[in-house]
Order: sequence, then structure tokens, then C-alpha cells
Amino acid sequence: VSVSLFLFFFFFKDNHQVTLETMSGDGTDASKRRRPNILITGTPGVGKTATASLLAERTGMKHIHIGELIQQHKCYEGRDEDLDSFILDEDKLLDLMETMLGEANLEDGVGVVCDYHACELFPERWFDLILVLRTKTDVLFDRLSKRGYSDKKRDENMECEIMQVILEEAREAYDHEIVHEVPSNTTEDIDSNIARVEAWTKQWIADKGVDDDEN
Ligand code: ADP
Repeated sequence: VSVSLFLFFFFFKDNHQVTLETMSGDGTDASKRRRPNILITGTPGVGKTATASLLAERTGMKHIHIGELIQQHKCYEGRDEDLDSFILDEDKLLDLMETMLGEANLEDGVGVVCDYHACELFPERWFDLILVLRTKTDVLFDRLSKRGYSDKKRDENMECEIMQVILEEAREAYDHEIVHEVPSNTTEDIDSNIARVEAWTKQWIADKGVDDDEN
């Protein structure tokens, strides 16, 4: 995997966790959640947004498209032309998300489904399930070409998928038990992934012993 890709994922990691750990009553405490939070992650083009938006539509969960959130709230500190990407202002993003997760769970009584192409930057306690979508090389090639990526950017992302960079990142950052790798090649895969999450959510609610009237 190219060095630049690794830099993209690891260069801007900071100590935000320390700040968050010192906050109390922030509403993202896993033990206080009545509904689970889910992170859908994977290489660009694997279907994170397609899956997350449909999941939210079908279940009433709140969908946070993190890429859009970053743009809307300008959670970046400039642009790295070599990497063809923004330099993320991680503190700003995490503060914003912390508020949103807290409000969804405590005020609206719904779980949150986030989608993003990286996962190790978030505090572990935020999520109850990490879904890592995987796509076959030829399928991903077509999707990224259609998206208009440059050859360089497409090839870097293809390599990232082949080397399962995001899957490894998820396994390193979260408890193995909550990390699930699922295929995302066809629309049938999207449906079966959503069905799987719905079944898992029901079980999570039953295990927690909270009512499930709202979902
Ligand atoms: P990501 O959020 O991971 O970058 P998107 O959800 O934007 O990916 O999907 C990229 C494109 O591929 C979209 O046009 C989407 O409809 C299509 N797509 C994604 N996943 C699937 C799938 N499992 N089956 C068929 N098409 C898919």
C-alpha cells in the first residue's frame, strides 16, 4: 500500500480521546444508551452511504454522513494537494459528533448510524457495532471510475481495498467481537446487510432490557 494512503489515515490522529474522557454527562456513555450506535466503514465506493441511508430510512435511526458533516461545518484545516484530500480538524469533528450522538440518543431516543471511510479516530465507546463493507476489485473499479476519480486516486483506493486497510484498522481500534466484515457487491447484499443489522439491533435491545416501542 502506498505511503501516502497510510499517511492519509494515520497522520492526523491526535489525543482527542483524552479530552473526551474527562467530560462527564456527554450523552455518549454506552451504558446509558437505549438504542445502539453503528459505524459503517470501508474504502470509498463500497456502499457506506447507500447502506447507511437505507438503514436509517427503514429503522428510523439517525444517519450521519460524516464526509458531508465535515464539509458543512468546515471541519478541516486546509487541503493537501498531494493526497487530493482535506486535512481534517479532528477535534472540531469529534466535538460536533459527540453533541449529535448525545442528542439523538438522549433527546430523540434513536440510535445513530455513521458512515465514514476511516474508523480509528472515534472513541471506542461511541459504537456498538462496526460494519466493514467489502467490495470485489472489478466492481469497485467500475464504481470509482463512474465517480470520476483520477487514475491515481482510484488505484490508491483499489489497493486500500485489496490490502483490507480499513478492516485491519477496525480490528485494531475496536473489540473484535463488534467488528463485522460483510460483502457489498450487489443490491441484494445491501438488503441482507440491513436485515442483519435489524436483527442484531433487536437482539441488542432485548439484551439491554429496554423497551423497543420506538424502533
Ligand atoms: P461509499 O459511501 O462507500 O463511498 P456509496 O454508497 O456512495 O459508497 O456507493 C457508491 C456507488 O455504488 C453508488 O452509486 C451506489 O449506489 C453504488 N453501490 C454501493 N453499494 C452497492 C451495492 N452493494 N450494490 C450495488 N450498488 C452499490
